[in-house]
Amino acid sequence: MTGGRLDEPLARVLGPRSASPLAALGLQTTHDLLRHYPRRYTAPGTLTDLSHLPVGEHVTVMAQVVQATVRQMRSRGGAMLQAVVSDGTHRLSLTFFAKRAGVLRVHEDKLRPGRTGLFTGVVSDYRGERQLTHPDYQIIGVDAEDEDQALVEASRPIPIYPASAGAPSWRIQRCVRTVLGPLTEADLPDPVPAEIRSAHHYPSLHQALLDVHEPYDDPQWHRGRARLRYEEAFVLQAALARRRAQVAAEPARARPLVDGGLLTALDAQLPFELTAGQRAVGDELAAELAGTHPMQRLLQGEVGSGKTVVALRAMLQVVDAGGQAALLAPTEVLAAQHVRTLRALLGPLAEAGFLGGAELSTRVALLTGSQGAAARKENLLDAASGRAGIVVGTHALLSESVQFADLGLVVVDEQHRFGVEQRDALRAKGAGVPHLLVMTATPIPRTVAMTVFGDLETSTLTEVPAGRSPVVTHLVPAGNAVWTARVWQRVREEVDAGRRAYVVCPRIDPDDAGSAGAVEDGTDLVPEVVKVPLRAVVEVADELRGLPALDGVAIATLHGRLPGEDKERAMADFAAGRVQVLVSTTVIEVGVDVPAATVMVVLDADRFGLSQLHQLRGRVGRGSDPGVCLLVADVEPGTDAHTRLQTLVETTDGFVLAAVDLELRREGDVLGAAQSGGSSSLRLLRVTRDGELIARARADATALTEADPTLSRWPALVAAIERSLEGDREEFLERA
Ligand code: ADP
Ligand code: MG
Repeated sequence: MTGGRLDEPLARVLGPRSASPLAALGLQTTHDLLRHYPRRYTAPGTLTDLSHLPVGEHVTVMAQVVQATVRQMRSRGGAMLQAVVSDGTHRLSLTFFAKRAGVLRVHEDKLRPGRTGLFTGVVSDYRGERQLTHPDYQIIGVDAEDEDQALVEASRPIPIYPASAGAPSWRIQRCVRTVLGPLTEADLPDPVPAEIRSAHHYPSLHQALLDVHEPYDDPQWHRGRARLRYEEAFVLQAALARRRAQVAAEPARARPLVDGGLLTALDAQLPFELTAGQRAVGDELAAELAGTHPMQRLLQGEVGSGKTVVALRAMLQVVDAGGQAALLAPTEVLAAQHVRTLRALLGPLAEAGFLGGAELSTRVALLTGSQGAAARKENLLDAASGRAGIVVGTHALLSESVQFADLGLVVVDEQHRFGVEQRDALRAKGAGVPHLLVMTATPIPRTVAMTVFGDLETSTLTEVPAGRSPVVTHLVPAGNAVWTARVWQRVREEVDAGRRAYVVCPRIDPDDAGSAGAVEDGTDLVPEVVKVPLRAVVEVADELRGLPALDGVAIATLHGRLPGEDKERAMADFAAGRVQVLVSTTVIEVGVDVPAATVMVVLDADRFGLSQLHQLRGRVGRGSDPGVCLLVADVEPGTDAHTRLQTLVETTDGFVLAAVDLELRREGDVLGAAQSGGSSSLRLLRVTRDGELIARARADATALTEADPTLSRWPALVAAIERSLEGDREEFLERA
């Protein structure tokens, strides 16, 4: 269903001449124009004495027309209407320009000498005379019944629209009035059901549009805006709730706990006690996996809180019940590491078919884009035959050639790099709909979780396992040679004590791709006005190799452009201690787990985002030895960069950092282009600010889908969802 009159092209409603500058602003239809909300409102000019007109101010004057004449302009082409109004003593000129004299005749006809009117505009000075250019005006007895009515009109807030030279704000305002004027409630089907509206005391859509476009006072546009902002949150949440309800309604194979299976065996051999949080979340997952509808859960947790073992236990429950699990990782480095970790935790339990494998056992297969043909073939076979209970991979898992015997659970690790579509692609590989567990790399603020991951239920791991020493973070001024020398000295001390260090740089290669150099994919660099050359992996590694302080230390490099085997070798050497210092890009950002690594040095630290730095810092302090994170940068106190780094120095609580990050980031960075772009369907809603509203909209939308999962009783809401999904919102959901 679409909105009938709402889809009418503006060219038809307003005529092509008015419509074409609007089209340049991306406004094609009645709907587009009505949803082009004023950016702000200016106070109307107070009624001003003609003898005291301040240049540059917006004024309204009551005056009598003395004369009005249309002239053809020889110099500039076009026509001009010049009028003079007076309060009996002082005079003010009014000027209107147009391409053709005809257009000005309307004004001339109204501005008849002797008539009284209210004139509103910004005062300018033209050759010593006060004048208003293109004033708005109302002639008493023509535009307004009487002076009282005219005064009311003149005291209305003035909407200021996002405008262009071709379509200035005042012209947009007129177009909106022309379009909105004849529309009724019936022409504007309301996506927000009446009961919800009345529960929150919100006006109808028709009224809200009148409120924002043609308010009589400030409270009125506030009221309209509040309702339209809610509507944005509500339509988005309804889309997510519908999606959640639709998936939840599909059948999934139940994978109940099996006693005496692989999971029991794993629990018996785990080298540590599960934390209370891991156990609680584990129970939650176990119950949902045993259900006959697909689990759709987001597991967010503090860096190092032990999400991997939680996922492994869920995967084993599924394997015990006869199914398979796929674990999707964002990078090859991480996929390879997951395989190592899982195999290490499982031991003989993962050696099915091999000498020494446990009687009850399975296999962990790895599928990545860069693996050799023979390895790939064998792993594909393990997945397709069901011999591998667990299949780990990057997005290569999504390719059509990958088949499963019975895919029962999909785990997506470090979610932010996978989209809804990719989730769906994996889901489609199951016979029924597989259960889904999504894990985030860092804690995320609740509003972001509700918006970006709004189609999932959320579980949270807040504690890290006991016995870890907290990472101490220091800010090191980059320009200070003594301090930087101390950094490498510190690295040396750790290496001598048998521990390891990461050195992270923002770039791969100093002289690659022009002056900017190659930046790792996914590196979240903060733009800077002044472009100083950033430290690069290759260059820094060379420098460190020549440094007396690091004499005899094995240094390796790691970045995304190395061939697959080289990456794996670098990681494996570092994990085994054959390499003690790993100079790398942010490829090691997420998930990498080398407990013996205790130092994290980040060069040009000011250029990384807060959550990225928190992730990087999470790479150390994972064992029993205390970790240290050295952020090397030159930052001025008072800048955002300084605030970011100082916050990291002061806290290691990921939830606190996530909140600070959200405040510091521009909105667009949080949700992607969809929210910052002018043409987005999210115009008024700000995730950074509207958390409470989003929560309310989510509750309302969820209640609605509980009663009616497809929302069939709410055609106007469905239409609004479709409309918002048509354009940029689709990208927005995909980014999730
Ligand atoms: P993240 O949640 O950041 O993905 P990991 O799953 O990589 O964290 O776990 C971090 C480290 O903590 C790993 O070395 C893991 O073996 C270890 N670990 C997990 N759970 C526990 C626990 N309950 N007690 C001690 N160590 C644990
Ligand atoms: Mg992890």
